Amino acid sequence: MADTTLMTIPGQVDPVPVARDITPRADGRIDLIGLPRPRIRELFAEAGLDERQAKLRAKQVFHWLYHRGVTDFEAMTDISKTMRPWLAERFVIGRPNIVEAQHSSDGTRKWLLQTDDGHDFEMVFIPDADRGTLCVSSQVGCTLNCTFCHTGTMRLVRNLTPGEIVGQVMLARDALGEWPKGVMDGLDEAEDVGHYTADGRLLTNIVMMGMGEPLYNFDHVRDALNLVMDGDGLALSKRRITLSTSGVVPAMERCGEEIGVNLAVSLHAVTKDVRDEIVPLNKKYGIEELLQACADYPGASNARRITFEYVMLKDKNDSDEDARELVRLLRKFDLPAKVNLIPFNPWPGANYECSTPERIKAFSNIVFEGGISAPVRTPRGRDIDAACGQLKTAAQKKSRAERDREAAAAALASED
Ligand code: SAH
Ligand code: SF4
Repeated sequence: MADTTLMTIPGQVDPVPVARDITPRADGRIDLIGLPRPRIRELFAEAGLDERQAKLRAKQVFHWLYHRGVTDFEAMTDISKTMRPWLAERFVIGRPNIVEAQHSSDGTRKWLLQTDDGHDFEMVFIPDADRGTLCVSSQVGCTLNCTFCHTGTMRLVRNLTPGEIVGQVMLARDALGEWPKGVMDGLDEAEDVGHYTADGRLLTNIVMMGMGEPLYNFDHVRDALNLVMDGDGLALSKRRITLSTSGVVPAMERCGEEIGVNLAVSLHAVTKDVRDEIVPLNKKYGIEELLQACADYPGASNARRITFEYVMLKDKNDSDEDARELVRLLRKFDLPAKVNLIPFNPWPGANYECSTPERIKAFSNIVFEGGISAPVRTPRGRDIDAACGQLKTAAQKKSRAERDREAAAAALASED
């Protein structure tokens, strides 16, 4: 048997270090978005407030940032008029920059966003009858090269910071007009709560399924999601958040313990050969190891099932035999599982075709008959390239030929 355990995967950096909680700005001010609450307090103290003041102001500011969604210190009406300019001189309340906003004919919305240092990334909002789901990016590009995924053709530019990740949720709230309205001076909390119920909202769910592999940016994703879940802020329940991974086994337990959100796993194939080909990370963490990590995932239960994503690729992974093997594997590991069948979303230059609707139906029936729910996901936002796997911005991965040419040129140059 070939020894694959030590094989390195081209382009993969594991993990990707970007240790920075504050984005340095040219004007020296500090962006508060994305910082944990204790850090805000610390910064206020470092800027000269005494301990008691720093604590109080941090609490007030946090509330304005994440509960009210204000982007201007002047709007913080319970902070004194002299204090507001003091804050504005030292701090900013950031949002990702919007380059373009697009609307699909099915109601899906996609935003092309940009970091302050000029990198493009995307976020998608998918409205449904009973929920509204925001699909959030964790990286600009991706180190992994899943062969059916458009983002996989990008190189990894960098990890998004916690502020850029939670900033997507804040921006969506801005765009949907979903911040609670109007607490004026003197109006107490209790009167205001009525505006702010989970039920009446458009944005009810978050999926970490945009660009990038969230478990290769674990710390930033964790810090961002902890802000999203903070009861004094955005207050979204962990039950309404799903993180999708292509199978970074060593980070899965931490994900359950330190974030505690629902898990989705991009399985996509049931044999080593096929999964090695279409999800190359499989060469490092194989199917059995991955399913064992799922069985051990903290918090998984019949009430909180793990979702297995399975992209339907014609003549690649869509046979009756594949469906039966899928049932066998999920049963073998006794997994509280549901399967999401995703019709392949095409993109220019992709080497795959989507399975026929009849094939997808037959596959789904076999899995259902095996006692596992296997709905077919309706593709959303295909007309604006917002569907799963269609997200991609300008950072191209270099082709093998380009890399070879560059290496040859470099070798020549070093001979001179
Ligand atoms: N990197 C993470 C999350 C982002 S991708 C992961 O791979 O899980 C979100 C989902 O879309 C994954 O299941 C991914 O495999 C799937 N996907 C990627 N390209 C696709 C395509 N062209 N058609 C359908 N689904 C695709
Ligand atoms: Fe990266 Fe996920 Fe696309 Fe694979 S499917 S290349 S892990 S974004």
